[in-house]
Order: sequence, then structure tokens, then C-alpha cells
Amino acid sequence: MSESLAVCDLQAWYGESKVLHGMDFSVRAGEVVTLLGRNGAGKTTTLKAIMGLLDKRSGSIALDGHELIGAAPYDIARKGIAFCPEERGIFASLSVRENLLLPPKVAAGGMTVAQILTLFPNLKERLDSQGTKLSGGEQQMLALGRILHTGARILLLDEPTEGLAPMIIRQIGRTITELKALGFTILLVEQNVGFAAGLADRHYIMELGRVVEEIPGAAFEGRLGALKSYLGL
Ligand code: ATP
Repeated sequence: MSESLAVCDLQAWYGESKVLHGMDFSVRAGEVVTLLGRNGAGKTTTLKAIMGLLDKRSGSIALDGHELIGAAPYDIARKGIAFCPEERGIFASLSVRENLLLPPKVAAGGMTVAQILTLFPNLKERLDSQGTKLSGGEQQMLALGRILHTGARILLLDEPTEGLAPMIIRQIGRTITELKALGFTILLVEQNVGFAAGLADRHYIMELGRVVEEIPGAAFEGRLGALKSYLGL
């Protein structure tokens, strides 16, 4: 199963509107890497471009050296990359169990429902509840559980802490640490820089559709204050 991404001069458009102007960054196997930037910098667009969900893109996205530009979204998913969108995409009329089992497996070795429930015990009692009955935190856990069930090894997570209470945010943080220990490769978009600080090996700062700086995890804490004011937080 493929495990690393190298993105080079990635450009992407919504219709006629160009949003990514040459993104360069990488996520090595087993790393947690964040994309940080002000609203509208193009973070979500970068994740969508990797998944092939935009009208047009150019440049290079290499998955263990294999080019993804030109591949269709289902092909990209089948290669083991999964996208967990900010809006979570839970099907309200389906139960938790049905939501978990819905996306097709892309590889043998995806987590079983029992393993997912060990990771997210809160979902255990909710297995037969409908998606509508879940709290925001439970929906986020279900959205994460669902991609883990597919067997994907590269996880693109769009603001998983958005709108959640501090206790749930800590739980999501512990889960990401556990997933890293299990060898998953994670590209994380975050507004919550405090959350990102504790988790990531490296951080990329984005501005107007480009990467403007790479910050190693070890140097990040010292930059937190300045970054928070730069990001308008
Ligand atoms: P946010 O935290 O606000 O989501 P972001 O860094 O993820 O910010 P994107 O959502 O990637 O930013 O948006 C980048 C730019 O693309 C913005 O100028 C936005 O207005 C534009 N954009 C986003 N979605 C679309 C769309 N479907 N059609 C046209 N333009 C879009």
C-alpha cells in the first residue's frame, strides 16, 4: 500500500478561477504534516486537488513516485488516499454502523468495526442510532472511523476539531497520535494551531494558494504567538 506524497508546482482551478498557484510540499510515510493559513488561503482546495475533486489541476502529485494528476477520484481513493471533509459527510438517515460500512474497501487490512469502536468507544452505544442523532464530536469520530474502515493509509483531514468542545478536541488529538503510531500518513488542515503544535512533524504555512514557509515541529512552539496573530486567531 502506498504511503507518501510529493506535491510539486500544483495548480488548481474552480471553473475559470485559479486558486492554487504552485504548491510545493511533501508528506513522508508515517508523518503527520499540517497545512496552516488564513481563511481562503487554499487549504481545503489543496486536499480536494489531491483527491482529484476539482475541475482542473496541473503540476505533479506523486504517490510513492506514481503520478496522480489525471487520475479520477475513485482511482485515487482506490490507491489508499482518503479525504475526511470539514462538513464530515455523515448520512443522516443511515445508522452509525451503516455509515461505517458504506464506503468500499480499498485494501485488505482496513480496521474492523470492533477496532474502530476500541478507538472511539463513544460510538459503541450509538451503533444503531441515526446520523442525525449524533453530536458534532461523535460525527467527527464516525467520519474518521469510516475512512479507517476502508483500508486507506494516507488520511487527508480537513479541520477535524472545528466546532468541537476542548475535551473532544483532546480525544481527537490522542486518536491522531495513535494513528501515527500505527503507521498512518496524515495531512491535516487546521485553524487550531495549539492542536496542530502537539501533533505534527512538520508544518507548512500557506498564503494565496502557495506554500510560503515550512516549519519543523520542534521549532513550532516558539513561533506559536506570532503565528496566531498572523493567522488572525
Ligand atoms: P477556509 O479555512 O476558509 O476553508 P481554505 O484555506 O481552506 O480556507 P479554500 O476553501 O481552499 O480555503 O478556498 C480558497 C479559495 O478558493 C477562496 O478564495 C475561496 O473563495 C475559493 N473557493 C473555494 N471553494 C470554491 C468553489 N467551490 N468555487 C469557487 N471558488 C471557491
